[in-house]
Amino acid sequence: MPQLIAGNWKMHCLTADAIALAEAVAAGAAGITAELLVCPTALHVAAVAKALAGSPVAVGGQDCHQTPQGAHTGDIAAPMLRDAGASYVILGHSERRQNHDETDELIREKTIAAVEAGLTPIVCVGETLDQRTGGQETEVVGWQIAGSLPKPFAGVVAYEPVWAIGTGKTATEQDVATMHAFIREELVRQFGEDGHGIRILYGGSVKASNAAALLAVPHVGGALVGGASLKADEFLTIARAAR
Ligand code: 13P
Repeated sequence: MPQLIAGNWKMHCLTADAIALAEAVAAGAAGITAELLVCPTALHVAAVAKALAGSPVAVGGQDCHQTPQGAHTGDIAAPMLRDAGASYVILGHSERRQNHDETDELIREKTIAAVEAGLTPIVCVGETLDQRTGGQETEVVGWQIAGSLPKPFAGVVAYEPVWAIGTGKTATEQDVATMHAFIREELVRQFGEDGHGIRILYGGSVKASNAAALLAVPHVGGALVGGASLKADEFLTIARAAR
């Protein structure tokens, strides 16, 4: 399976910027063997999907509601993302866990809703700095996997240590190797043989200069890139480093 290089654009870009960024990524995609994905705000999914039509670059959302429709002011349902052209959705990002009090249980419900709508969920897990300094990182991530992933699980896991997000502090290759091996073990323990086939992305200050080393770590199935995905050249350099 090729690696998946996903850009999480977070709350960036106006429409014209989003289209230009998507077009620049698509223009440089030839010859890249990794799977490419960009995740603009929900507002821009349709325009970006249109700009990327016919290119190998997929589009994803950054969140969805746990029900397919209803009286939920301000929310976006998974079928709406699908309808707008998304094929993936990021769920349980630490910024949603922290800023919107999302629990493992809610993330599991959203994951089920995403799969039912035909989307591939990318479920994020990862410990805070306090949890890591307290030596609880594997315990926390193990609980997040057990609580956030439905059984069976038709999706992708992203390991994003909270202390490495947007801080410029990347986890060391050894940190990533240890945690990805642990996550693989947990997935196999919780999902049996299917656990071997689940992609595990690394996210947290991935950039052109560290991508090759991080993407070469065993059990790393790709990268979830924040800040560096807002520059097409850098995002494409990361993707070229993938296997
Ligand atoms: P940065 O790459 O900006 O650290 O963000 C990582 C992230 O949160 C991707 O989802």
